[in-house]
Amino acid sequence: MDDPHIHVEAKVIHRDAAVRDLMASTFGLAGDLPSQVTAGCGLRVPYAMTSPSPGSVTCLACREHARREHLRFAEQVERLSRMPGSVVGFDQAKLAADKHRDLAERFS
Ligand SMILES: [Zn+2]
Repeated sequence: MDDPHIHVEAKVIHRDAAVRDLMASTFGLAGDLPSQVTAGCGLRVPYAMTSPSPGSVTCLACREHARREHLRFAEQVERLSRMPGSVVGFDQAKLAADKHRDLAERFS
């Protein structure tokens, strides 16, 4: 396989350390670092050929995937923060949502 492109991991959100902590405390998900991952475009690629950074990803399908995921996450985190008894505070959710909308913008 000779693929020069940098992809995003399909689970692009989980690459973000702060969000990983947030998600871990919210959903009980733990981060792991596999050698091969499924990319946003559907390919199986080496973990080393993926990046969560908008400046590094060259695969167009992956950029579109990342944009959608960041927007979806922003909505999800806001929805969570509005639920009664939510562990995610309003300010924390707003901060996370803003950050991910910004990231989505940079992937488009
Ligand atoms: Zn890709």
